[in-house]
Amino acid sequence: MRRDPVLKIYKRLYKTFGPRGWWPGQTPFEVMVGAVLTQNTAWTNVEKAIRNLKRERVLTPGRLHKIKASRLARLIRPAGYFNVKAKRLKSLVSFLFKEYKGDLSRMRKEGIRTLRPKLLGVHGIGPETCDSILLYAFDKPAFVIDAYTKRIFSRCGITKEDIPYEELQSVFVETLPKNVRLYNEYHALIVQLGKDICRKDPKCGLCCIREFCRNKDFR
Ligand code: SF4
Repeated sequence: MRRDPVLKIYKRLYKTFGPRGWWPGQTPFEVMVGAVLTQNTAWTNVEKAIRNLKRERVLTPGRLHKIKASRLARLIRPAGYFNVKAKRLKSLVSFLFKEYKGDLSRMRKEGIRTLRPKLLGVHGIGPETCDSILLYAFDKPAFVIDAYTKRIFSRCGITKEDIPYEELQSVFVETLPKNVRLYNEYHALIVQLGKDICRKDPKCGLCCIREFCRNKDFR
């Protein structure tokens, strides 16, 4: 596996796109909720669901803990899979109350090695959602892997597209300096490239990391 271009690719992406300022959320709790709502949907749909929650003044741990799942599902309808996601949000908030008395500052104090497996034990929280919460809500050094990461880095010849989540994550963790700011920007930059350039039908002629890419099929 080629690891040497991993930092160079980051620098090139950063130079091209600049800081991304992630995650779009006003509070750590909003980031947590957004991380669940964004599963299998575009961010624009999440924004509509978040707007509904704010309008109804229920975007707090206490209110989401009390709200009925059926009402929550109606409010988050724009994000899709709303019944499933309502159940997941209720599970996440129950976890927050059971483990940390509903207090995010208590949750933040937990070390990543303890918090990550606990979060992964919550209904509907897979590794990508878990690491998004750890990194973007709590500033913990959890590198987020998503479908764009697998696509781009497999096309670049750095990994296989069907590589397991934790295996690809370890490529980044073992290659990059352990720096929350860098992890934060790198994932956001990967999403930018994946959305705009390295799409299913990639625009290689416009790609800033073309020189690092080994995928000759697209040239
Ligand atoms: S050169 Fe093409 S295939 Fe390679 S990363 Fe860029 S857009 Fe994707």
